[in-house]
Amino acid sequence: MAGNSGLKHVPQRMCVICRDKDAKRSLTRLVRTPEGGVVIDIGGKMSGRGAYICDRESCWERALKSDVLEKALRARLSPETREDLRNSRLQQEPK
Ligand SMILES: [Zn+2]
Repeated sequence: MAGNSGLKHVPQRMCVICRDKDAKRSLTRLVRTPEGGVVIDIGGKMSGRGAYICDRESCWERALKSDVLEKALRARLSPETREDLRNSRLQQEPK
């Protein structure tokens, strides 16, 4: 099909768990640290290998309980890291 060249690129991120695409702000970026851990990239400006998770509680549960994130980020998630991410996410919640 023609007409693709004029299409404006809208930045969309994909949740690594449910693979839903959404606008950037409803997804949380996780980034691998140089130390090999994983942190939430609150400003969205940290460099490094990143992965996005959407707002769904089920996605976070799965992300923190499975190895999907580890595979996406090629990092290791220790139980402490998983707990940290869970807590950071709760603090980030606007409500
Ligand atoms: Zn999701």
